[in-house]
Amino acid sequence: MAFEGLADKLGNAFKKLKSKGKLTESDVKEAMREVRLALLEADVNYKVAKDFTARITERAVGEDVMESLTPAQMVIKIVNEELTALMGGSEERLKMPAHPPAVIMMCGLQGAGKTTHSAKLAKMLKSRGSRPLLVAGDIYRPAAIKQLQVVGAQAGVPVFEMGTEDPVKIAQAAVRHARDYGNDYVIIDTAGRLQIDEALMNELKNIKEAVNPTDILLVVDAMTGQEAVNVAKSFDDLLDITGVILTKLDGDTRGGAALSVKAITGKPIKFAGTGEKIDDLEVFHPDRMASRILGMGDVLSLIEDAQAKIDEKSAARTAERMMQNKMDFNDLLEQFRQVKKMGPLKGILSKLPGINSSKLDEMDIDDRIMDRNAAIILSMTPEERAKPELLQASRKRRIAAGCGMKVEDVNRLCNQLKQMQKLMKQFGGKKGKKMMARMGG
Ligand code: GDP
Repeated sequence: MAFEGLADKLGNAFKKLKSKGKLTESDVKEAMREVRLALLEADVNYKVAKDFTARITERAVGEDVMESLTPAQMVIKIVNEELTALMGGSEERLKMPAHPPAVIMMCGLQGAGKTTHSAKLAKMLKSRGSRPLLVAGDIYRPAAIKQLQVVGAQAGVPVFEMGTEDPVKIAQAAVRHARDYGNDYVIIDTAGRLQIDEALMNELKNIKEAVNPTDILLVVDAMTGQEAVNVAKSFDDLLDITGVILTKLDGDTRGGAALSVKAITGKPIKFAGTGEKIDDLEVFHPDRMASRILGMGDVLSLIEDAQAKIDEKSAARTAERMMQNKMDFNDLLEQFRQVKKMGPLKGILSKLPGINSSKLDEMDIDDRIMDRNAAIILSMTPEERAKPELLQASRKRRIAAGCGMKVEDVNRLCNQLKQMQKLMKQFGGKKGKKMMARMGG
């Protein structure tokens, strides 16, 4: 994931500050020199890094230290605020015109991830209750239409195509189609080139003029670092883009593009691509990115992940049963299923604060434990699953033999359930119910 080296280096710079009780101006300046070097190594634009550290030095030296913080914490707080501001401040949403559909024109160089991200975005919008339409506007690459149809099918979103017709006509017809069929977003996948050239730019300008997009999103590959920023600058000069989708953040260990795009182009990063799968798209939250860089973890993203992926109905049912203190093995099985939906445990843990990803690799995290526990439950009879108190020694032996495990493993799982029941008992009563209601459970 992005920012690893930067996070480590900033951590070192701050550690030195923390070891000092009082900070002098030269302490701060020395720390900022290290921060600037760390940013340059992360491939951040030189001027951006220089202005950034100058701003922090000025604030850190001039600002009174808040009572609740140590001087070093105060500097970290300022760095956190400035990092957030550098990446755009708050998250930027897509625009919605008074009269839908919203037209999103996707543009970018070949290979940046335009087609993939058209579909990822469509899927995200669909999961929020919208009815997007994907449009095949790249008429030059023979396989482009087919590719969009494949990823469109993965997203469960219809694809509008007119073969190799003029892209301007395709875009116009697609918008009409969306109006007729009640699609609220039209996402136009346009042609890419290996390099910016005049013919491509003219075509994009013509499409822009013809359909007056609500958003023009430029797709750039984070792994290309400053080159991505240069591309963004050129596209913005010619097309006046409304935002950027930064792709392949999963493969970008440095993070230079994420940190420089907004400062150089003035245009926000709206989304980040974090993998090849259709769900690997995140709304870009500058504040959370800043916390991630400073090693404060990304708890908010984690919570959002969990919320999106957990089936609400079944969560509500489990909550209800928890409140009535009726938890049994069926609920436990359901929980394993829900946690598995969030992906491998390592991925979940890496977003928690204080967890260093290199340490995670050393830790023995075994997703299979959950599978084994599920296997134990599956080898119980339905009656046993619903009535855990039935499990006496002979039944436990049979269950263990049934799933190829030991009686101790079955006991461990029984204890786990008991612990949860106990915990839920404490939550029970009016106080717990009120809390659940507030949480929307
Ligand atoms: P286009 O030419 O701009 O339309 O690019 P594509 O959508 O065809 O993507 C080019 C390649 O990049 C494909 O192999 C994608 O699977 C891959 N790709 C796209 N987005 C991401 C991402 O966020 N992470 C990773 N690891 N790969 C990506």
